[in-house]
Amino acid sequence: MVDIMDREQQRQAEQLALDIAAVTQRPKCVSAFFCQECDSAIPEARRRALSGVSRCVACQEIAELRARHYQSGR
Ligand SMILES: [Zn+2]
Repeated sequence: MVDIMDREQQRQAEQLALDIAAVTQRPKCVSAFFCQECDSAIPEARRRALSGVSRCVACQEIAELRARHYQSGR
């Protein structure tokens, strides 16, 4: 009896986790068509791979480098 209850609770927990994943993995915002930094077109593949992406590859790399420098400089 206890075992059945546990399994039911586990099943519900798994379903809840799936529901949360379905919500959180939904794109939060629409990807930009053009880079916010340099206005160059962002490839469709990149827009689909990274939901809410707002920079082209080059500008993203620069932004990440800047962020890394900022963190290491502290
Ligand atoms: Zn750019």
